[in-house]
Amino acid sequence: MSRLVLVILGKQGAGKGTQCARLSARYEIPHVSTGDILRAAVKAGSPLGREVASVLESGGLVSDDLVNRLVASRFTEPDARRGALLDGFPRTIGQAAALDELLGEDGVSLCINLDVPNELAVARLSSRRVCVECKTIYRDTDPEAISGTCSNCGGDVIQRSDDTPEAIAARLALYERDTAPLLDFYAARGLLVTLDGARDADVVTADIEAVIAARGLS
Ligand code: ADP
Repeated sequence: MSRLVLVILGKQGAGKGTQCARLSARYEIPHVSTGDILRAAVKAGSPLGREVASVLESGGLVSDDLVNRLVASRFTEPDARRGALLDGFPRTIGQAAALDELLGEDGVSLCINLDVPNELAVARLSSRRVCVECKTIYRDTDPEAISGTCSNCGGDVIQRSDDTPEAIAARLALYERDTAPLLDFYAARGLLVTLDGARDADVVTADIEAVIAARGLS
């Protein structure tokens, strides 16, 4: 089977992380989230983490060069030989071009755009809580969020430091400016499928699987 590289696009709160966790299990390809990689570096206090901590906190973007190198390095790991689900990358036209160069001839298999209105994105992000260990996403009303303990792995369930109203607004604005142009980039290559991300997560997953099957990618 050839490599399956799925780019999951959509603004913050569109459901990319939730869908990637499911699709990763279904297609046995790793969920590569540049946000998770960067946050892990911040938590570990590594030189990379110290370099990017304040950018993440404010909701700004890390440099293309830095994330391009992170993703290139991630693709050298054995589990990425079969492909990957890319979440939060590419986020700029420069990153999309770097990804094309990295993947070479086969390129990106498909780009799924999860479309949600801004109000829903803000509501989802404001009520989002996340396990720092296994990254399971909860709502603020879930028992795990209230107790602060993940029922999946026992890790701490917290609110991300960039899920504050100011950082959410900054991230959504950057999405419109830097990331939304990628929709035309992938549409021009015949690789873009836009789905309504406001629906129930199970329905969205079923839709994505149907698109992948219809394109003969699974
Ligand atoms: P969200 O999409 O909700 O903002 P992510 O977890 O994808 O969350 O990213 C968190 C933060 O990590 C971003 O706000 C940004 O600072 C940084 N980041 C993640 N991916 C990239 C990227 N591809 N390019 C630049 N910065 C990135």
